[in-house]
Amino acid sequence: MIYLNGKFLPMEQATVPVLDRGFIFGDGVYEVIPVYSRKPFRLSEHLSRLQHSLDGIRLQNPHTEAEWADLIERIIELNEGEDQYLYLHITRGVAKRDHAFPRAATPTVFMMSNPLLTPPGELLVSGVPAITAGDNRWGRCDIKAISLLPNILLRQLAVDAQATETILLRDGLLTEGAASNIFVVKNNLLLTPPKDHRILPGITYDVVLELAKAHGVPHAVRDVSESELRTAQEIMLTSSTKEVLPITRLDGQPVGNNGAPGPVFHQLNQLYQAYKQEVMRAHVPH
Ligand code: PMP
Repeated sequence: MIYLNGKFLPMEQATVPVLDRGFIFGDGVYEVIPVYSRKPFRLSEHLSRLQHSLDGIRLQNPHTEAEWADLIERIIELNEGEDQYLYLHITRGVAKRDHAFPRAATPTVFMMSNPLLTPPGELLVSGVPAITAGDNRWGRCDIKAISLLPNILLRQLAVDAQATETILLRDGLLTEGAASNIFVVKNNLLLTPPKDHRILPGITYDVVLELAKAHGVPHAVRDVSESELRTAQEIMLTSSTKEVLPITRLDGQPVGNNGAPGPVFHQLNQLYQAYKQEVMRAHVPH
């Protein structure tokens, strides 16, 4: 069951007019919220980021936080599976095709749930391969925009190279993955680029940094150069659906000494899994 413009209905019955600006222009934003044991993870943070994205495209939020929380509770109830991932999608609505904002259009609001399939245990043991590519996206990567053509093309480069992710470089600096944030370990220090217009402010990124801080993992948030990436002891990606995943090959070369997941990954992954359990037990929509 999905949610579309005020109604819950089966996916097959859900349709959107062809003049929807999401279809015509990719004029909209989205969110992905993981659900563990039927509880949304870090809900208020996801809703704040949604507000940031909506502000970024100058679209009024069609719902209050409390309304979103209700809709999200309903969609979880209507779908099976303890662990789900929710996809929320808001476009500027249906209007005669014209680049400028329509004077009066009602936003299209769509929500669906899919099973949450986090990476299988073997991948946490072996790690995954990644490649690098130039970051040719626009200047507002902090907006979670549905117009994902650059990300799609960049991610397909990884698929073509039988890799899991494409790590992006802009002006000699690491930005992020095509669909993830990136952390490296260099001189035993966990490093990740700052949250600015060059990257999506990842919810998992925040959790990892909070855990590093709380548990004394030496870390710094600062620009990371291409050479630091290429000579890193460890590389890992973070996202809501992949959680914390070690990258053990970069452009065909082993990462670190032996191309195996390292101690900082192991510690952060353990902390992340423990934190998830704690949040689920606490019964608070977090
Ligand atoms: N950067 C990009 C470009 C993404 O698409 C994503 C989400 N898939 C992330 C980072 C990670 O964000 P989050 O931890 O909130 O899933």
